[in-house]
Amino acid sequence: MILIVDDRPENIFSLKTILDVHSFPTDSALSGEEALKKTLKQSYALIILDVQMPGMDGFEVAEVLSGNNHTKDIPIIFLSAASTDKKFITKGYSSGAIDYIVKPIDPDILLLKVKTFYKLYEQKRELNLVQESLRQEIEFRKRAEHQALEKLKELHSTLESIPQIAFTATADGEIDFVNEHWFEYTSSAKNFPPNHPDDRCIKKQWENSIATGTPLEMEVRIKKEGEDYRYHLVRAMPVKEENKIVKWVGSFTDIDEQKQASKRKDEFLTIASHELKTPLTSIKAYVQLLDMMISKEEKVKTYVDRTLLQVNKLDNLINDLLDISKIESGKLKFEMQELDFEKLLNTTIEALQQIHPDFNFVRKGKAAVNIKANDIRLEQVIINFINNAIRYAPESKEIHIISEIKNERLYFAVKDFGIGISQENLQNVFTKFFRVTETGAPIQGLGIGLYICAEILKRHNAEFGVESELGKGSAFYFSIPVIS
Ligand code: ADP
Repeated sequence: MILIVDDRPENIFSLKTILDVHSFPTDSALSGEEALKKTLKQSYALIILDVQMPGMDGFEVAEVLSGNNHTKDIPIIFLSAASTDKKFITKGYSSGAIDYIVKPIDPDILLLKVKTFYKLYEQKRELNLVQESLRQEIEFRKRAEHQALEKLKELHSTLESIPQIAFTATADGEIDFVNEHWFEYTSSAKNFPPNHPDDRCIKKQWENSIATGTPLEMEVRIKKEGEDYRYHLVRAMPVKEENKIVKWVGSFTDIDEQKQASKRKDEFLTIASHELKTPLTSIKAYVQLLDMMISKEEKVKTYVDRTLLQVNKLDNLINDLLDISKIESGKLKFEMQELDFEKLLNTTIEALQQIHPDFNFVRKGKAAVNIKANDIRLEQVIINFINNAIRYAPESKEIHIISEIKNERLYFAVKDFGIGISQENLQNVFTKFFRVTETGAPIQGLGIGLYICAEILKRHNAEFGVESELGKGSAFYFSIPVIS
C-alpha cells in the first residue's frame, strides 16, 4: 500500500488515478499529522509526501518517521516545488530510502520511481521473511540441541548412579560413554573389558549385534584387577528414533552369586536324590535277605540292625530336609527351658560313643551351668558338630570336646584334626547348600547340616563360628549366656 500525503485533495486524486491504473493500492492523508497517525496503524510500502503543507511540512513528517523504529525504513518520495529542496531532504531523512519529484509531476517519472521503490520494498519483505524463517530454524535447532544435550546429561548421570557397569555407544558401535564402574575392570574407555578365554568374545557378539541391529544379551566372566573372574550378564539395547537406531545403551550386571547358587542348587538336587536312594536301596536289599533267610534265625538280628541303621540315616536326612522347609517358611519354632548343659552333653556323647566306639572323644573343661535352651535342638547342633568332625577327619580318631565358662557365657567347641577348611571357604560353611568342593575324599553330604545349626543357634541368641586351617583340622564353636 502506498500512502499519498498532500494537503490538496485534487493532487491526491490525480496521483491516485495514475497509480490505480497500474494496480498500486493507495491510501491518503491530507496532513502530516494524519499521515503519522496512519503509519502507526498500518504498514506502507512507500509514502509520497508533499513538502509544502500547512501545519507539519514534509521534512518534519520525514524526521518523525525516521525517529521511529517501525517507520524509519519506509521509502519516501518527496513532492517539491524546486530541486533546491533536495539538500534539506537528505538532512531530514538519512536512514531510509528517499527520492524526490519536482512539480508539476511527470507521470512517467513518478511511475518509474514508484515501481523501483515498490520492487525494492517487495524484495526487502521477501528477504525479511527468509531471514525470519532462518532465525526460527536456528532457534529451533538450538533448542533441540539443548534438549538433546540435557537428555544425554540426564542419561549419563543415571548411568553413573547405578551399581552396574554401564556404557553407551554410537549407532555404528563406537563406545562413547562409560560409567565409573567400567574402569574397575579395564583402563580403556573404548574397548570392552577382556572376558574369560573360555567364554564367547564380547567384541564379536557386539559386532554381530551392531551389524544386525539386534539387542545383545550374553553371560561372560570378567574380572577386576587382582580378583577372580565373576559371571556378568551383558545387555545392550538399541535406542531408535523414527525406526532408525541412533544409539546403544548397555550394562554389565554381576550375576555370579545367582550363578553359584543355581549351580549349588543343581548339585544339591543331584546329591539329595542320590543320598535318599542309597539307604533305601540297602533297606530293600536287607529286607529281601530277611525274607529269604527268615528260617536261619541267628542272622536275622544282624540284618535287622543294619536295616535300622539305614532307616535312621534316611530318617535323619528327611528330618533335615523338613527342617529346611520349616526354616524357609518361618515355621522352625521351639520351646525354651532351663537345662543343665553338662548333663545334656554327657548323654549326647554317650550315645555317639556307642555308635562310634573306635573314636576317642577327649573331654576338656567342664560347664555344669544352666542355660536357656531347647534340649532336642541344642543336642542336634552338638551331634552335627561331632558327626562332621568324624566325617571330615577320616585319618584321625581323636576329637576334642571343649566346654567351659568364659565371661559368664557357656563356651562349647568340637575340635578335629582332619582335612580343615581353607580361609576363603570358612565364611560360607554355615550357608545353605554350601559344600567345599575340593575336599579330595568323596564325603557324602547335602550341605544343609551347618545351615540348620546356624538357624537353631541364632534362635538361642548364641554366638557361633569356626576356626580352621587347611590340612590341620577345624574347631566349630558356639557360646550361650549362662543363667546366674
Ligand atoms: P554336609 O552334609 O555336606 O557335611 P554341612 O552343612 O554339615 O553339610 O557342612 C557344610 C560343609 O562344610 C561340608 O560340606 C564341608 O565341606 C564343610 N565342613 C563341615 N564340617 C567340617 C569339618 N569338621 N572339617 C572340614 N570341613 C567341614
